[in-house]
Amino acid sequence: RSVLLTGISGFIAKRIALDLLDAGHVVRGTLRSMSRAQEVTDALAAHVSDPASLDRLSFAEADLTQDAGWDAAMQGIDVLMHTASPFPGSMPKDENELITPAVEGTLRALKAAQASGVTRVIMTSSVVAIEANDKGAPFDENDWSDPAHPRSTAYFKSKTLAERAAWDFVAAHPDMALTAINPSLVLGSPLDQRFGTSLELIERLMSGKDPMLPCFGFGIVDVADVSAMHVKAMEREDTAGQRFIASGGSMMLPDIAKVLKDAYPDRGIKTARAPDLLVRFLALFDAQIRSILPNLGTMPEFDTSRAQSVMGMEFVPPDEAIR
Ligand code: NDP
Repeated sequence: RSVLLTGISGFIAKRIALDLLDAGHVVRGTLRSMSRAQEVTDALAAHVSDPASLDRLSFAEADLTQDAGWDAAMQGIDVLMHTASPFPGSMPKDENELITPAVEGTLRALKAAQASGVTRVIMTSSVVAIEANDKGAPFDENDWSDPAHPRSTAYFKSKTLAERAAWDFVAAHPDMALTAINPSLVLGSPLDQRFGTSLELIERLMSGKDPMLPCFGFGIVDVADVSAMHVKAMEREDTAGQRFIASGGSMMLPDIAKVLKDAYPDRGIKTARAPDLLVRFLALFDAQIRSILPNLGTMPEFDTSRAQSVMGMEFVPPDEAIR
């Protein structure tokens, strides 16, 4: 197949590109700037099983916030794999800085696909489009985040509204088939040293700069599993019209630090749990800590039976993905 992979410079997308090339597919990756093309090629060249597969790799310039480039990028493509979306480490003051590119960028990619007759679409959504509601764990693919829920940050809203927009778009264009992949926090090995926000959490824990860690948890999944699910979704028509949660299990932040401390005992990694009362007090003075409060003491669990039964996934355990 010929796949248009949006945001190929991303941590997850680079891994998907590698797996697609190794499986014999043709990959055209979108970049905001072609100046990143060599860096992405180098990252892939260091890992592909056959150097000749790089002949099947090309790039196209397209920004989520602009119309230019999308139609040209889609020429000769069979499948749209849409992974590009802003994922910053801290939330902007204006939530539309995330919501607008996520939603409008998704629609730009889908419209260009539709205009050039591309009917198969795989989208990287997130569990943040699933877990912000009062239903309680375990969450499954029938659950949707409520953008008005206290746990819905700007990022949660951007992913929820972008995935909703994609389902609405394909509902209006019944010739198109969409599969959404909804990963929890993605860890595991990056292809190079330019990786996204999720591994920055591990860098921060490794640095030991926080004397204590707030007690809240999240689902964790290995990037290899997330990538494999994108490829399987494309290869299997029975995944069309469905969402698939990607998560190997959930862990509290201090326990994640303990896994790292056991693996790297000489690094001075801190694992102490900050008392909830202290976190609440510090949140009075710090917006970043304040954003944690709705999650304090919580750890979402996810039901991944759909990915296991339909795709045959056997998820890498969280401690392995962390290490
Ligand atoms: P990265 O930040 O590494 O990748 C994000 C990609 O989106 C980059 O290629 C980035 O381009 C691109 N992008 C951002 N804004 C724009 C824009 N305005 N126009 C064009 N491209 C843009 O993050 P990940 O690889 O971790 O995330 C990839 C996808 O997976 C995202 O959709 C994210 O929401 C989702 N996801 C990630 C999880 C995680 O824990 N990592 C968990 C669940 C979902 P550039 O390199 O130029 O900045």
